[in-house]
Amino acid sequence: MRRFLVAGNWKMNTTKASGSQLAQALVAEVPKENQAVEVLVCPPFPYLTTIGEIVKGTGIGIGAQNCSHEAPGAFTGETATEMLSDVGCRSVLIGHSERRHILKETDADINLKVKKALAAGLQVVLCVGELQSERESEQTDAVLDTQMTGGLAEIDAAAFDQIVIAYEPVWAIGTGLTASPEQAESAHQYLRNWLKSHYSSEIADATRILYGGSVKPDNAKELLSQENVDGALVGGASLKAEQFIPIIQAAVELSAG
Ligand code: PEP
Repeated sequence: MRRFLVAGNWKMNTTKASGSQLAQALVAEVPKENQAVEVLVCPPFPYLTTIGEIVKGTGIGIGAQNCSHEAPGAFTGETATEMLSDVGCRSVLIGHSERRHILKETDADINLKVKKALAAGLQVVLCVGELQSERESEQTDAVLDTQMTGGLAEIDAAAFDQIVIAYEPVWAIGTGLTASPEQAESAHQYLRNWLKSHYSSEIADATRILYGGSVKPDNAKELLSQENVDGALVGGASLKAEQFIPIIQAAVELSAG
């Protein structure tokens, strides 16, 4: 049985004060003994330590939104995976669509980061997803295949206990448009079959595939009920405790059966 993971991607939002308030609200509402659902928040780099202190010992983990593929050294403005581990990060998002499409990261860049993050012992949340134009021209599966093949090049089966896939259709991110449960399930099925054919049935069965794209309290339960949806990567709604908590609760209820 795959354990749900609900992750909040704060992007380049919050201040130290507002992020702290948000984290405190989550700590107050997410039971410490919650084992049913893994919860993760990904604040901006400057606030990782502050937020990490607030959630310490609560079962809520912290993750970074990006990392460098280089070892510490002369790379002005970059953040090494060693530094992420040092400040207590459990995870790192890699290949988010904003990094692919705005910052022009390629699958080759993403693959280097995946390798580096795995070597540092971090959980990798590898984000994949198609543009609206690609969906309209029926290229969704081909795009997912390219991103999975490129992002996971030379990654051994043994690394999969540290890998989570996030399916995030680009047209649904921050737009208020959500993939229908059927659209999400169909892409998730494709990704699970991809894992089966490129690795094994065991890895396909065990690897969590999150859905991301305008997940809100009112659509979370239906999306999370899909057989191959194992959690959510949440942007906008993770910035408001009153929206993020019901999404976590939806996952907790579903995992109780
Ligand atoms: C995201 O940034 O990963 C995301 C899914 O954003 P939103 O929930 O705002 O669509």
